[in-house]
Amino acid sequence: MAFYLYRMTRTNKDRWLEKRKMHRERMRSQDIYQRLVKGDRVALSEGITLVESIKPSDEAEAQKLIELCMPHSGNSVRIGITGVPGVGKSTFIETFGKHLIAEGSKIAVLAVDPTSSVSKGSILGDKTRMEELSNHESVFIRPTAAGDSLGGVARKTRESIILCEAAGFDKILIETVGVGQSETLVNSMVDFFLLLMLSGAGDELQGIKKGIMEMADAVVITKADGENAQRAKKAAAEYKGAIHLFHPNSNGWIPKVLICSALQDEGIDNVVETINSYVNTVKVSGWFEKNRAEQDVNWYRSTLNELILKSFYKKDGVTNDIHGFENSIRNNEVSPFKAAEVTFKKYKK
Ligand code: GDP
Repeated sequence: MAFYLYRMTRTNKDRWLEKRKMHRERMRSQDIYQRLVKGDRVALSEGITLVESIKPSDEAEAQKLIELCMPHSGNSVRIGITGVPGVGKSTFIETFGKHLIAEGSKIAVLAVDPTSSVSKGSILGDKTRMEELSNHESVFIRPTAAGDSLGGVARKTRESIILCEAAGFDKILIETVGVGQSETLVNSMVDFFLLLMLSGAGDELQGIKKGIMEMADAVVITKADGENAQRAKKAAAEYKGAIHLFHPNSNGWIPKVLICSALQDEGIDNVVETINSYVNTVKVSGWFEKNRAEQDVNWYRSTLNELILKSFYKKDGVTNDIHGFENSIRNNEVSPFKAAEVTFKKYKK
């Protein structure tokens, strides 16, 4: 080989090396796919890195990989877990995860951290979390989904779910911090949404973000041990009262209120049972499949919106136009509506 390369002229050699590199790049999705469907966690990790890559040259390969994995996906229960920092999410997932493994499940934990581009994933991403669980061979943990926008993070998380399922993981836990909009996004991609809450000192009801509470299929009061045990019980009773004020979920399920201590492994079995019973109920009623189909339709729409925006801003002259108009609007030289119309016409040309 070395001799052959030596004999080549310089330009031929460059061209040959370039071609070989392109061939390798083209084979990347195939290579990852073949290892991934056998349950190889390294391949799964490489796959998610490819999906998360912002290099334009990786985009096509990532799409190919997702297409290859699609037929092997879907066979899982997707569980969203949210709560404020410090509520005990990672401790909960550690104990909850052990129960799921004991049932024979393979679990993937994906974290959606919308703050990751600012804080470098410090809220969810530090490596010491879920240490015991992460060493288990039936577990795959991916600390952060990097992305430049919430929509971008959501898309990458969705695609990562597909890859995890194709790799044989049948319980997908999507963890997110209960701040901002990320819970709504997570709710749009899971089958069951779990809200972890602390029992505060008498301010339970004020602490509830109403929208999130309405999304929850179960509310779990954490750290119900020691001196906190009584407070947790009291909080649970108050939440139960509050939940009855809301409409039942569209599938008729009335959200459950539970208490647990992840540190002492108490009450976690109830959470597992609740989720199993929920999944059985909605599978029998047909709602499970219907909900997933609806989520796919939403997914199609948001991807389409994303593509349209991308194509819009890529169009020659549009960005310049926008900067120009922004100044003109500030100087009161043109109305915002007129400016938008002109810019849009330029895009359509
Ligand atoms: P996260 O930020 O939501 O992931 O919360 P962590 O799981 O990191 O927990 C925050 C703190 O609460 C840690 O110091 C944990 O040890 C503590 N903690 C978590 N779960 C429990 C529990 O069940 N009981 C008690 N007493 N403390 C807990």
